[in-house]
Amino acid sequence: MSSAASLQIDSEGRLRHLLTTEGLGKDLILSILETAESFLPVGKRQIKSAPLLRGHTVVNLFFEPSTRTRTTFELAAKRLSADVLNLQMESSSKSKGETDLDTLLTLQAMGVDVFVIRHPDKGATAGFAAEVGNEVAILNAGDGANAHPTQALLDAFTIQRHKADFGNLSIAIVGDVLHSRVAHSNIHALKTLGVPDIRIVAPEALMMEAPEQLGATPYYDLASGLKDVDVVMGLRLQHERMHEKKINDLPAYHRDFGLTRDNMRLLKPDAIVMHPGPINRGVEIDSEVAYGERSVILEQVRNGIAVRMAVMAMIAGNRQY
Ligand code: ASP
Repeated sequence: MSSAASLQIDSEGRLRHLLTTEGLGKDLILSILETAESFLPVGKRQIKSAPLLRGHTVVNLFFEPSTRTRTTFELAAKRLSADVLNLQMESSSKSKGETDLDTLLTLQAMGVDVFVIRHPDKGATAGFAAEVGNEVAILNAGDGANAHPTQALLDAFTIQRHKADFGNLSIAIVGDVLHSRVAHSNIHALKTLGVPDIRIVAPEALMMEAPEQLGATPYYDLASGLKDVDVVMGLRLQHERMHEKKINDLPAYHRDFGLTRDNMRLLKPDAIVMHPGPINRGVEIDSEVAYGERSVILEQVRNGIAVRMAVMAMIAGNRQY
C-alpha cells in the first residue's frame, strides 16, 4: 500500500485525510456514497445548508487552475456551514519565495481545520499530510497526474445512481489516460467496487503504463473499446502535463478516438456518457454527445457537491479532539 493510502486512514480504520482512492475499502467507499445520497436533498432545499461544519474553517488552496472542483468544494463547505477561504496561489506569498509547505503551516497556525489542496506535483498532498498537525485534515483535489479521489467518488456515485449494481458493468475510459489523475483514481475505486470489465481506450502515445496490473484492459481501437459498454468516460487531452507533444494531428485524433453520435451506437442502449470536464468540444467529444440524451456530465458536477459534503462531514466527524 502506498504511503498516501496508509496516511489517510486512522488507527481505527476511519478516514483521516482523503489523498487517494487506492486502498480505500469497499465498505468505506459505499458509506461515502450513502452519506452523499443523504446530502443530495440539501441542494434542493430553499435554505441549502446543514450545520455539521459550523465553527470549522476550510481553506481551498489551489496551486493549479480549477473551475468545477474548487467551486463545488467551496459550495460543499458552505452548505455544511463552515467558514471558507479560497487561495489561488499565483497571487500569494509564493511570489516572495515562501515554500508551499511554509504557506500551509502558516495557515495551519491560524486555526484551519481542513485544507483542500490542488497541486501540480505528484504526491504533494500526501507530503503535506505527513507534515501537518493532528488537528488538520488534507483533501486531495488533484496532484499532478497522480490522483483525484473526490472526482472518482463522484463518478462512482453518479454511476451508482444510474446502474444499480457495480458487479456486472462494463466501463470504458477513453482518451488521455496517461496524464489523467481522474482515470487512475477511477480505476482503483471501480475495481474495489467490483466492476468486472474496465477498459482503457487510448492511442499508444497516451496509454497508461500497465493497466492490467490495476485490473483494467487496454484497447487501442475505439470501436472494440466501446462495444456494449454500460458507461463511457471521456477524457481531455491534458497538454499542460505533456513534456512533448503527443498528438500532432487533432482532426485525426478526433476521428480515431473522439466520442461522436455515430460511435455512441456501439454502446448498450441504456449506456451513460460521462466526462470530468472541462470538455474540449470537437476534440475528445462532440457537442451533441456532451449534451445528448445519454450524457450525465452536468449531473456529475451537481453530485460533486454532495460527495464533497460527505467526505468533509465524515472526516470532521472522525476527528478526536
Ligand atoms: N478536471 C479534471 C482534473 O482536474 C480533468 C481535466 O482537467 O481534464 O484532473
